[in-house]
Amino acid sequence: PYKDRFAGKKVLVTGASQGIGEATALRFAQEGAQVALNGRKEDKLIAVRDKLPKVSGGEHPIATGDISKEEDVKRLVAESIKAMGGLDVLVCNAGYQIASPSEDIELEDFEGVMAVNVTGVMLPCREVIRYWLENGIKGTIIVNSSVHQIIPKPHYLGYSASKGAVGNIVRTLALEYASRGIRVNAVAPGAIVTPINMSWVNDPEQYKAVSGHIPMKRPGESREIADAVTFLAAEDSTYITGQTLYVDGGLTLYGDFEKNWS
Ligand code: NAD
Repeated sequence: PYKDRFAGKKVLVTGASQGIGEATALRFAQEGAQVALNGRKEDKLIAVRDKLPKVSGGEHPIATGDISKEEDVKRLVAESIKAMGGLDVLVCNAGYQIASPSEDIELEDFEGVMAVNVTGVMLPCREVIRYWLENGIKGTIIVNSSVHQIIPKPHYLGYSASKGAVGNIVRTLALEYASRGIRVNAVAPGAIVTPINMSWVNDPEQYKAVSGHIPMKRPGESREIADAVTFLAAEDSTYITGQTLYVDGGLTLYGDFEKNWS
């Protein structure tokens, strides 16, 4: 972490109760930011807050709510802004996936994934951008996409569709608000060690199989995604907008060509 890179900055992270969201919240707090923690379960968010460095002049607010529900998002964005006295950075991180052969996909499952991964990005972006426009704030948004924004993922139709949509949400919002100083970018992680991936992380055979597909021959760590998110939020990236930064150990490089190049 850089010392005080985000001192005085106010950040809202969705889906901050574990995994990449937790690591991202931790990194912002380590670098001096005040961080509003969103998730659905207050007790889990309080446990995360207990691990964050304290911020001077207040505490990291808990912003409980379902990110796919309009009323929840309106309330939790307003509460976060009130508790911190402002907002400079929005990280749309919450997301999940459901596996099923596409011929058997349940409508409810497809719509559920789209609701969190797509509507759950649109709603907080809308609320926060409106606040920034009303107050002349040049804020920045980082959305957590996935390599499946461009790599098809059979058996995960909703997830693939949702991350493709996220790429275009980022590009569209970036264009719409660029002239008003609001930047919008995405990070696209490859295979990352997080609680949802523990089944293959803890199975030596599967771990080897997953790692073997990655040119760098290992999965990523949540903190390596936090590195990219904070870069896109910082003064280091003031001329970057509408981009997706792939953080994937080379997974999007057509790895088979490393050996089969003829
Ligand atoms: P995770 O399941 O560990 O964390 C997801 C977080 O989102 C949790 O805190 C969960 O409670 C929260 N969440 C889910 N639905 C929510 C809702 N309706 N409202 C509010 N919060 C909700 O997952 P993760 O691996 O840390 O993934 C975080 C993001 O990174 C997701 O968008 C995921 O698609 C993306 N991603 C992860 C990987 C990976 O390998 N782990 C790879 C590519 C992309």
